[in-house]
Amino acid sequence: MRSPRFHHTYAVDLPERLYAHTDPSPVSAQRLLELNEPLATELGLDIGWLRSSEGIEMLAGNRFPAGVRPIAQAYAGHQFGNFVPQLGDGRALLVGELADTSGRLRDVQLKGSGPTRFSRNGDGRAALGPMMREYIVSEAMHALGIPTTRTLSLVATGEHVYRETKLPGALIARVAASHIRVGTFQYLAVREDIDGMRALADYAIARHYPDLAGSPNRYLGFLEAVVAVQAKLVAQWMLVGFIHGVLNTDNVAISGETIDYGPCAFMDAYHPATVFSSIDHQGRYAFANQPRITVWNLARLAEALLPILGDDAGGDDQGFELAKAAIGSCQAYYEAEFHKGIRHKIGLFSEKPGDLDLAAELLDLMARNSADFTLTFRDLAHEIDGSGRARNHFIDPTAFDGWAARWRERLAREPENAADRAARMRAINPKYIARNHRVEAAIGAATNDGDFGPFHRLLTVLARPFDEQPEMEEYAQPPADEGRVLQTFCGT
Ligand code: AMP
Ligand code: MG
Repeated sequence: MRSPRFHHTYAVDLPERLYAHTDPSPVSAQRLLELNEPLATELGLDIGWLRSSEGIEMLAGNRFPAGVRPIAQAYAGHQFGNFVPQLGDGRALLVGELADTSGRLRDVQLKGSGPTRFSRNGDGRAALGPMMREYIVSEAMHALGIPTTRTLSLVATGEHVYRETKLPGALIARVAASHIRVGTFQYLAVREDIDGMRALADYAIARHYPDLAGSPNRYLGFLEAVVAVQAKLVAQWMLVGFIHGVLNTDNVAISGETIDYGPCAFMDAYHPATVFSSIDHQGRYAFANQPRITVWNLARLAEALLPILGDDAGGDDQGFELAKAAIGSCQAYYEAEFHKGIRHKIGLFSEKPGDLDLAAELLDLMARNSADFTLTFRDLAHEIDGSGRARNHFIDPTAFDGWAARWRERLAREPENAADRAARMRAINPKYIARNHRVEAAIGAATNDGDFGPFHRLLTVLARPFDEQPEMEEYAQPPADEGRVLQTFCGT
């Protein structure tokens, strides 16, 4: 059995003002509840070792292999529009980086590992429920093909945490391309730490956008690259009905991965104004606001980078103009991704005038008829011959008929045959999403009865979201009215 060999490039390459060496607080009765074996393999980890008492001690934050020096990372962030100059890992520690099987460095971070210099008034711990939610939803996102942090393990601490009630404690090991956030740059900008900013930008470029390394315009190129990956990411969320819930700048990763699964949710019935988070009173992070908020968050990154963008541009004014242009391109990137995606969702793989109107009309009808987002698109593949399956998701099914007639006329002009088209549509429109009522049921069973059966079943079904899984049909269904989850909580 082989213990892992961690790298510590963040700590070695970057100034100590960006982090604090911190030991985790040991827990009393750790128990490995779930290990993500495919991910462990991808990270070159020895599964036997991970399951050994030494491995579990590491995943619980009790004891690390020799040489490992964990750190809490510093960052700032705009939370619901208000700038907070110091946030940072208040309940997480970066164990180190592992080179995965493709040679890419991936962060391994423990979340729920105890207090740090950045904990403010928090206890540094996490409750089982929110850690299960992050595990389920992050792995579901990955299976949908959407860039995301992953979850390697779930460990019970054997201790309680105190929120509104007493809850079982847990921690996860989160795996990320990196944990560098828009807020990490803001942390340096507000301190006018220009040297730190150059060092962080160069580090981020080397890790995520190595083609830019050494180029004279690399900082502008970096901003443009982050704009492009974030625009694409939010388009992918919008195409599966995902609501992040807390799109603060500290929860935006410059790698382009989805990060920080708090009060996130997938929509059941489609409505653009949908909000789940109990703390989002103004609907700032409502479903349809996400593209706009992403532009706003990227503008905060541009602002932070301004002092070093002038390096490239030959002056601060030029730097400002170039940053403005980069942010201005975000909407166009987003629309290109979203428009292509939404055309494909309705089976239009060639491009004709009027296609986007047709898609917009469907979304509008879905909103007015409380149609289930996921199943309406999924069942369109069965509507080509008029089976009525998509139609039945509309409160007024006749409202669908007029649209469907025009849609079929348009489909007749597609080059592909109907069977091929239906197969392609099924590979794009998932059948299984992490529905809230299922996530809550899994958390409830585990928290109240120590029953992890529903959690395992949910992970299993969500690992193959595009496949028909006849024995799992109930997991595809939206909740009955009384089972609907109306709010989700941060659980911090
Ligand atoms: P989040 O809402 O999870 O993105 O967290 C926002 C900030 O609050 C981050 O700096 C977290 O580290 C911190 N935080 C959240 N929960 C806790 C906790 N239980 N103890 C200490 N810090 C926390
Ligand atoms: Mg966060």
